[in-house]
Amino acid sequence: MTNGFPPASPSRPARSPGGGADGRTALVTGGGSGIGRACARALADAGAFVHVVDLDAEAAKTVAGEVGGQAHAVDLADPEAVDGLPAAVDILVNNAGIQHVAPITEFPPETFVRIQQVMVTAPFLLMRRVLPHMYAGGWGRVVNVSSVHGLRASAYKSAYVAAKHALEGLSKVAALEGAPHGVTSNCVNPGYVRTPLVEGQLRDQAAAHGIAPEQVLSEVLLARTPVKRLIEPEEVAAAVVWLCGPDTGFVTGTSLSLDGGWTAN
Ligand code: NAD
Repeated sequence: MTNGFPPASPSRPARSPGGGADGRTALVTGGGSGIGRACARALADAGAFVHVVDLDAEAAKTVAGEVGGQAHAVDLADPEAVDGLPAAVDILVNNAGIQHVAPITEFPPETFVRIQQVMVTAPFLLMRRVLPHMYAGGWGRVVNVSSVHGLRASAYKSAYVAAKHALEGLSKVAALEGAPHGVTSNCVNPGYVRTPLVEGQLRDQAAAHGIAPEQVLSEVLLARTPVKRLIEPEEVAAAVVWLCGPDTGFVTGTSLSLDGGWTAN
């Protein structure tokens, strides 16, 4: 008996027998800390061999050791350093990022440029480096760790918001160009993630305002966010692994908000 729908397409990809990334090679930038470390761990758990790229050599080594991968100590602001990274990569996670908070009138131009180099130029150069391998194999996944700030602005974050909006555009172009080759490109867009940086901000603002850290969280950082908690790095990594798995070949050029409803508000 038929259900009225055409039969499943013969080109529908088979599910891999083990984890969703079995046999794949991944490269995670900023893999030594926070979201990148969680992504490296989760991709390794899903079966991938992981190249852990980070400015912090010790952190990269520690995470690579933990996941049975390979560490690369690299400053992604240096275009030549990217040339030394592996090109035979099936899964690219552009995650490394930095922040600087100041009004535009006081924002150091050299800091603005460095933020664009790390968060826009390096992802472009890495795509340029690894896409030929993905195209040759007819399969690839690019995940760009963007932010709510890829979709919304906040005052005093000009370089970061500009970089994340640029990353959104770059990701969509990669989706269009990769489509005929079985390569998807997507962004994930977290709200505030529980990392040492954000926990430090909570403590500092609590001291500055003379209020409890929980109050800073719900009334300042999460003022527009209906779900009043930070997202954990592991929750972001789970979304990244899903985007790299066998069920997402049709998911491309998107931005997956993980923001507790912030952008819906
Ligand atoms: P993190 O500071 O914990 O980790 C970032 C890593 O990137 C660090 O290990 C750092 O050494 C590395 N890095 C920085 N500059 C580098 C460079 N020039 N070359 C190589 N490596 C470099 O930060 P995180 O919070 O895990 O952030 C990871 C990504 O997630 C960033 O792109 C950030 O914008 C994004 N994000 C973070 C949050 C948040 O609340 N923490 C929210 C939304 C998006």
